[in-house]
Amino acid sequence: MKQSKSERLFDEACRVLPGGVSSPVRGFGAVGGSPLFLERGQGSYVYDVDGNRYIDYVLSYGPLLMGHAPEAVVQAICEAAALGTSFGAPSEKETRLARLVMRRMPSIEMIRFVNSGTEACMSALRLARAYTGCNKIIKCEGHYHGHADALLRQAGSGVATLGLQDSPGVPVLSIQDTLVVPFNDLDAMERVLREHPGDVAAIIVEPVAGNMGVVPPARGYLQGLRALTTAHRALLIFDEVMSGFRVHPGGAQARYKVEPDLTTLGKVIGGGLPVGAYGGRRDVMEWVAPKGPMYQAGTLSGNPLAMSAGIAMLEHLDEAWPAARQAARDIASGVQAAAAEHGTPMQVHQVGAMFSCFFGDAPVSDFRSAKRCDAERFARVFRALLRRGVYLPPSQFEACFTSSAHGGGQVQRTVEAFGQVLKRLPLGV
Ligand SMILES: *Cc1c(COP(=O)(O)O)cnc(C)c1O
Repeated sequence: MKQSKSERLFDEACRVLPGGVSSPVRGFGAVGGSPLFLERGQGSYVYDVDGNRYIDYVLSYGPLLMGHAPEAVVQAICEAAALGTSFGAPSEKETRLARLVMRRMPSIEMIRFVNSGTEACMSALRLARAYTGCNKIIKCEGHYHGHADALLRQAGSGVATLGLQDSPGVPVLSIQDTLVVPFNDLDAMERVLREHPGDVAAIIVEPVAGNMGVVPPARGYLQGLRALTTAHRALLIFDEVMSGFRVHPGGAQARYKVEPDLTTLGKVIGGGLPVGAYGGRRDVMEWVAPKGPMYQAGTLSGNPLAMSAGIAMLEHLDEAWPAARQAARDIASGVQAAAAEHGTPMQVHQVGAMFSCFFGDAPVSDFRSAKRCDAERFARVFRALLRRGVYLPPSQFEACFTSSAHGGGQVQRTVEAFGQVLKRLPLGV
């Protein structure tokens, strides 16, 4: 069979990039086949180098709440670029983006901009340890907080997709203070806190898990974490890199009305450019250098190009978010109805502008139940949808994302494609 242009480019890429990609899940390892090489994105669509068009539910893994190349963001980037992309000096745009974030998340009294979600989480941990003088941190199984050494333990996202436990190259010393408990299990959390009295700096969680597929917090779980951290004098860190401005315009903290001490952000606040941030209580953030002693820095941090994209995105949040959420709702209910019609054992989860499809009979509430789902079936559905022009993230453990550009037509076509695929699933699509 003649090679597609994507296949040829992938072969070439594999000679110079490990696995042919710049981030692991992009390699299609979990779903089989060769990744699409994309040339262009507009609104809810991406176009590959072979001239095929797809309705995109990857959306760069979350940042693109207004779809690809929205006019407001493109214009802001162009205007900023013409004035210089980075100065290594303060600019007013940092304060403007800070204000836009704080208006949505009042728990953030001060903020530091960085360049990725990984940097944000890594720095928030250092800050929590500096502030509390404690060593241990607690995270949940299947939660992904970027690829910093201390957080690569039972991590979700690509680590889960590749079936890795932990990564080689991470020194034992750097994860020995990372304690791991199941998500949505307050008793387990309390037990671990009691086992390490006075030595837990922070609990870090994805308040709505998104890196094992979308798994919402159980009722009262986040409130419980708030009470436990307060009682044990540990900081509560919400990693809202994915959930921020996606599950609610004010993030999970607004949706579930729980105030963390620190919040990490990324994805949507960059409007599609590389940005991360961490922020929270003033007395804690004042430990960050140069105000305080905790060192953390970045050559390109807060650069005007990225700040402009973030500002343009957040200025349009009030229009963008409800539309993006509506698309996710309509798809979730449509797919659920199709699953019921065709007798497909399936759990469809949707929170705000993200959703996931788990194949199996049992409810999914944590990493163990997520891992029990039928990943092979997911892979078959993924490939069948791709042939029908619907592009999901290539892993059971990645959330699907919607944008305000996903209008009724695209949603309807997506639900129809799901219906056709689920109908044929028993026959082996
Ligand atoms: C994506 C993600 C990160 C890592 O962000 P990068 O920008 O990829 O480094 C951290 N935490 C969560 C919850 C994420 O979804």
